[in-house]
Amino acid sequence: VKTGGKSNYRFYDQKYYEKLRARHDKEDDLRRAIENDEFLMYYQPRVDISTGTTSSMEALVRWQHPSKGLLEPLDFIPLAEETGLIAGLGALAIEKVCAQLARWAKTGQELVPVSINVSPRQFDKTDVPKLLAESLAHHGVAARLVEIEVTESSMMSHGGEVSEVLAAIQGMGIKLLVDDFGTGYSSLSQLQSLDFDVLKVDRAFTAGLEKSEQGNVLFAAIITMAHALGMRVVAEGVENERQIRILKSLRCDEIQGFYISKPLPPSETQPILPKWFFP
Ligand code: C2E
Ligand code: CA
Ligand code: CA
Ligand code: CA
Repeated sequence: VKTGGKSNYRFYDQKYYEKLRARHDKEDDLRRAIENDEFLMYYQPRVDISTGTTSSMEALVRWQHPSKGLLEPLDFIPLAEETGLIAGLGALAIEKVCAQLARWAKTGQELVPVSINVSPRQFDKTDVPKLLAESLAHHGVAARLVEIEVTESSMMSHGGEVSEVLAAIQGMGIKLLVDDFGTGYSSLSQLQSLDFDVLKVDRAFTAGLEKSEQGNVLFAAIITMAHALGMRVVAEGVENERQIRILKSLRCDEIQGFYISKPLPPSETQPILPKWFFP
């Protein structure tokens, strides 16, 4: 019957508008949060598999929401990327990491580099090399103390300008890391043109190590190729000792994951972890 169909349409219309409205509200909320700076960085160490010392720490953003509590990136990074708000958020992240490095330096601790996640969408609206240079200079932090992580998939969906910006960043003495390797569709030879310093292998491959012999062979092949291209290899998402043993036998260089440490607020983070023990 016609009328029934009509009310059905109206029902779907209303749902659609409610969704759109919710998205708008969330976008406004995020914009306000960036203006108020409601963000903080957590830090997760990356350790050298043969010495057990911390080689770097990854900065991971958190949103201290006034009513919703502490929000993880999955709750807001995708929206920030779609709306372009990632530019402002990304600038805050750079500033926070440099400020934190300066704070750690003041306490006299031995410093390790901190890696910052960067989305190529930031490059559309902001001069990221300039932001980095200004933040580093403002806090008196050496360029070698920051590193930049860019996901393999985001690089592939953006054009040649990304390569130019990344090359400029590398030219400042900042290391470049490929993030989530294996989840995009690039080949290692495509990555070679950018001369990345470190390849971070997605945690799906680490999880695959225990599952089958093929998982080990695949990881071994990635390591061999990355080494041939002059890159160090990091295994992401290491959750148990068995994975560490296999990764060690495959000559993986570094590991990161909950088994070593969860991401922690700066107050609980030690730039240098007590030496990690590998039996
Ligand atoms: P990512 O760059 O791949 O960061 C690693 C994520 O894996 C983190 O999630 C971390 O908590 C989680 N993780 C670490 N070890 C383990 C493990 O052993 N097992 C499992 N299951 N997970 C582990 P988090 O902090 O929720 O961040 C999610 C993503 O959000 C990041 O993935 C990154 O892509 C993005 N992100 C975080 N901070 C920023 C930022 O400042 N800027 C941008 N553009 N993106 C960010
Ligand atoms: Ca990352
Ligand atoms: Ca990753
Ligand atoms: Ca290289």
